[in-house]
Amino acid sequence: MCHFIVKLSHCKTKGVLNISIIKRSIIRIRASLRLIILLCIALFIIIGILAFFYKTAYIVTYNGEFIGYCESKSKLQEKINTYIENGNSDNQNIAYVQIDSMPKYELTFLKRNIQTNDNNIYNAVTSTGVTYYNYFAIQLNGEDKYFVSKYYEAEDIINKLKEKDSNNIDNIKIAERYNTELASFTSIDDCVNGLYEKKVVKKPTYSTTSSKATYVSSLGISFVEPAQGIITSRFGIRKRDNHKGIDVANSIGTPIRASAAGTVTYAQYNNGGYGYLVIISHGNGIQTYYAHNSKLYVSKGQTVSQGQVIAAMGSTGISTGSHCHWEIRVNGIAQNPQKYIYKGR
Ligand SMILES: [Zn+2]
Repeated sequence: MCHFIVKLSHCKTKGVLNISIIKRSIIRIRASLRLIILLCIALFIIIGILAFFYKTAYIVTYNGEFIGYCESKSKLQEKINTYIENGNSDNQNIAYVQIDSMPKYELTFLKRNIQTNDNNIYNAVTSTGVTYYNYFAIQLNGEDKYFVSKYYEAEDIINKLKEKDSNNIDNIKIAERYNTELASFTSIDDCVNGLYEKKVVKKPTYSTTSSKATYVSSLGISFVEPAQGIITSRFGIRKRDNHKGIDVANSIGTPIRASAAGTVTYAQYNNGGYGYLVIISHGNGIQTYYAHNSKLYVSKGQTVSQGQVIAAMGSTGISTGSHCHWEIRVNGIAQNPQKYIYKGR
C-alpha cells in the first residue's frame, strides 16, 4: 500500500516538474515569436520603404563607359543580338553587323525618380555598329568587272556564257565579297552581254572583186588560186614522201597565175624534182611555189601582180601527169595551202 503511495507521490512530483518545464518553454517560445514577428514587421517596413523609393535596375557600361540604366537586361540584350545578326534595315545583302564590344550589366537599386532608358542604350550601342554587306563579284582575268547581289545570279551568268561558248569563259570567276559598302549591281543580261567574247575563228572573207575565190589569210595577204583543176594531192604525209604543197591537175598549157602580188625570186628549171619552177616572194617571209610547169612567162627579179599569168601548166620534174604543185612557205616552212586557197575542196 505504502509502496503505492510513494510511487504515486513520486509520480505526482514528476508531473509537477514536467508541467513547469513546458510552461517555461512556452513562455520562452512566445517571447522569441514576438521578437521574430517584430523583426519581420520591421523588415517589411524597411522593404516597403525601399520599394517605395527604389527599384532594381542594371547599370550599363559600354567600352568601359557608363551609358545608362536599363530596366530589362534580357529584353535589351535580345534586341542588340537581333541587330548584330540583321542590322537596322531590311537590306537583303546585310551579312552581319560588327559592334565594338558587348555592353556590361550590373544589378543595382535605383531611386524611383531616376529614369531607365533602354532605348537610349540600344541607340548608343548600335551607333557604333559597322554593317557588312555580302555580294558577289564577276571577275575577268582576276579583275572585278560586275557585281551581283546573289550567288545564283553569278552562277547564272557563268552558265549563260558557257552556253554561248564565250571565248573567255576560262578566265571568268566568281568571288565572294564582304564589304562595308554595297556595290552597285548589274543585271544578269547586262553582265552576260558585257563579258561575252566571240570565239576567234579564222574565217575567210569572200571577195567578189575577182572571178576566182580570194581569201584573206591570217598572214595578212589575200591569195587567189593559181590554176583551175582537180585537186589530186593534198598537203601532208603521203606514202612516199611528205607533200609540201597541193597538186591541182588540168591539161598542159593551163594558165598558172600569181596567187598574190610580189617579186619573182626564182624562175628556172629545178633539179630537185620541181621541174620548171617559179617562186614569188610576197614579203614578211612569205613565198609561193609553182612547180612542174611546161613554160615560164616571168623571170627572176620581176614584180608580178595578183592573178598575173606567170607560167603554163606541165609535167616537168618528178611528176606523173600535168598539174600545178603549189606551195606556200612562211620563213621557209611549208604551210598547208588549204588554209589559204582551195578551201573546203
Ligand atoms: Zn605536188
